[in-house]
Amino acid sequence: MDEKGVKEEKVASILEEARSKDVPYQRVLSSMCTRPHPLAIEAHRMFIETNLGDKVIFPGTAELEEKAVRMMGEMVNFSEVSGYITTGGTESNVQALRAARNMSDIQYPNVIVPESAHFSFDKIADVLRIEVRKAPLDDEFRADVGEVENMVDEKTLAIVGIAGTTEHGQIDPISALGKIALDNGIFFHVDAAFGGFVIPFLEKKYEFGFEIKGVDSITMDPHKMGLSTIPAGGLLFRDKSFIKALKVHTPYLTTKDQYSFVGTRSGAAVASAFAVMKSLGREGYRKIVRRCIDLTRGLMDELGDIGVQPLIRPPMNVVTLDVAGERVKERLYDKGWITSVTRGGALRLVIMPHVTEEVLDDFIHDLKSSI
Ligand SMILES: *Cc1c(COP(=O)(O)O)cnc(C)c1O
Repeated sequence: MDEKGVKEEKVASILEEARSKDVPYQRVLSSMCTRPHPLAIEAHRMFIETNLGDKVIFPGTAELEEKAVRMMGEMVNFSEVSGYITTGGTESNVQALRAARNMSDIQYPNVIVPESAHFSFDKIADVLRIEVRKAPLDDEFRADVGEVENMVDEKTLAIVGIAGTTEHGQIDPISALGKIALDNGIFFHVDAAFGGFVIPFLEKKYEFGFEIKGVDSITMDPHKMGLSTIPAGGLLFRDKSFIKALKVHTPYLTTKDQYSFVGTRSGAAVASAFAVMKSLGREGYRKIVRRCIDLTRGLMDELGDIGVQPLIRPPMNVVTLDVAGERVKERLYDKGWITSVTRGGALRLVIMPHVTEEVLDDFIHDLKSSI
């Protein structure tokens, strides 16, 4: 750090220069994040100094959080949920399983997740010191229900199902997994970090929410397809005893206790998530999702024309292609595209709201010459 500060204009130009090195979302086909809705940005600015770690100072912001949680609960068919706006899918997943662990008396517990689970479950294994067992998938990259059932033993604390996998956008058989959980009296968490703001708005209906009896908790992230600013994740519990199981006593704050993982916690993205959900409503999200799905279908047709095969028929706006992923990704990068590769080596594309038809036409052209 310099002894004397530099002029604000100078700092602004340093910031601008740094920002200009970032890749604009336009040509990003790898990320599950996107440009936030304009109202989300405005709300974020208005609430920039708020701290939900100290709710007595910010009751207005806390009220918005309760309303946002309720709206998300309604999206997954249970308005009486308990939960809060987290920093993202990772915190939600950690906290869901931390609550389950705190409510259980199993020593050295295990959790069964599908092999398709997000890497946040590797962090969970490490942080919570829980054995994370990875169940094999069926040939469409869904959790294999029989395999999950075989892995359950007396030390099984929880089962996890994914509604919208990160790599393939696949939806696990949530109701069949819920039945295993219910039959064995095991906690059942649904990770819908990405799918939570997609699946309820698809034309085809999938059950993945609290309408399924066994489901105890759900992760769903406003900062992905919810179009809020970052960081906004959602953690929802059916039973409020689980949120109580996360509480620690908080001396020297205005509140008595706290259930969030982080302490000081911005209300900016919370207000942002609330604002977009309130403004778009179901109808607004349905339009956004429909547009992404139409673009995905159009892309699938064009891929067929150039002889590129998808690994599965995509249920949502994530496409994986049977090409030499790493090599094609490098070549596309040289042409200005950001794509990604699955653990299985397939090229992976996410068709987020920032993607347009023109961009996809250019992309197909460059993909053709990259294979
Ligand atoms: C993105 C994602 C996560 C992690 O969310 P972050 O907001 O990046 O922490 C967890 N699970 C699934 C299925 C995801 O797609």
